[in-house]
Amino acid sequence: MAMPLTTTHRVFNFSSGPAVLPEAVLREAQRDLFEFPGAGMSVMEMSHRSKPFDRILEGAEATLREVAGIPDTHAVLFLQGGASLQFSMLPMNLLTAGASADYVITGVWGEKAIAEARKVGAVRVAGSTEAGGFRRVPRQDELDLDPSAAFVHVTTNNTIYGSQWRAMPDVGSVPLVVDASSDIFSAPMDVARYGVIYAGAQKNLGPSGVTLVIVRKDLLARSSPSLPTMLNYAVHAEQGSRYNTPNTFGIYILGLVAAWMRAEGGLAALGVRNARKAATLYAEIDRTGFYRGHAEVESRSLMNVTFRLRDESLEDAFAKAATAEGLDGLKGHRSVGGLRASMYNAFPEAGVEALVHFMREFERTHG
Ligand code: PMP
Repeated sequence: MAMPLTTTHRVFNFSSGPAVLPEAVLREAQRDLFEFPGAGMSVMEMSHRSKPFDRILEGAEATLREVAGIPDTHAVLFLQGGASLQFSMLPMNLLTAGASADYVITGVWGEKAIAEARKVGAVRVAGSTEAGGFRRVPRQDELDLDPSAAFVHVTTNNTIYGSQWRAMPDVGSVPLVVDASSDIFSAPMDVARYGVIYAGAQKNLGPSGVTLVIVRKDLLARSSPSLPTMLNYAVHAEQGSRYNTPNTFGIYILGLVAAWMRAEGGLAALGVRNARKAATLYAEIDRTGFYRGHAEVESRSLMNVTFRLRDESLEDAFAKAATAEGLDGLKGHRSVGGLRASMYNAFPEAGVEALVHFMREFERTHG
């Protein structure tokens, strides 16, 4: 087969997910794609029950545990079905008969999560910022928490609205369960505090098709044997995420990303860099009034920066011109409009500087 001759050029990819991956990870995967060292075959061709794959999966878990400080009290599962399947699976496992769960609603993903939980059992809205158009997360004193709830569910970062919790709310002794899809491991995280942390991998951790679920082991006792086997946390924990065939290649990439995080200095270093990237962009948004941020300042996300132009009719032109300059994926989610710059761990600082430069030029020529 003749391959067309093309020159390739990597753009600055502001996509909200699947999102940019570290170049070092892509190059290592490319180098080892045809033959994984010592295995005589590609990772894609390996049995999920083979020794080389055992080492890949166990290595990915060990590196993640080391980088994120995941304690032995918590199991690490590599599942499929995205964060969206967790909207159902989580209450099926944790919301036992007769109990009720609290949900804090800060955006579309929280709404989807509670809608699925309602199909499983009793739920309460323990707080919501819908009235203000989800421009912020609630204050602690706005929450109405049930001390006997089976769990409290929070979305840590609202990918669409560009809001994020600075600190998790105090939920007392009730297990805190979080959808951390869009900010997992973007800064140090006290994993021991959480009952469950789940995230689709495709933003901060790797490719789509793997869902990381970190679950406090004592909570696995709630998983009833009457659940469909594939939806039972305890089964996946017992079987080391190999009850059936997992996304082997995705788990391999996740392991490479975890090793990259460690090489970059770990979550503390990534957190500092992410804060710097966001501060640079927000400073430009706030500079003159030509742009304006969507989320309220105290709730601004460091991962997904949502903004508008004072003259909204210029937004399409902005996105098109940006794409032409190699700044890709800046169009906002259809439910909010405007623009959104997603800047996960692997997004380079040079990309933020390029965007700021572009914004100044756009303002100079259209302001
Ligand atoms: N939760 C959040 C916070 C998200 O950003 C997304 C995807 N953008 C989802 C859940 C849904 O994830 P998935 O597509 O992996 O099901």
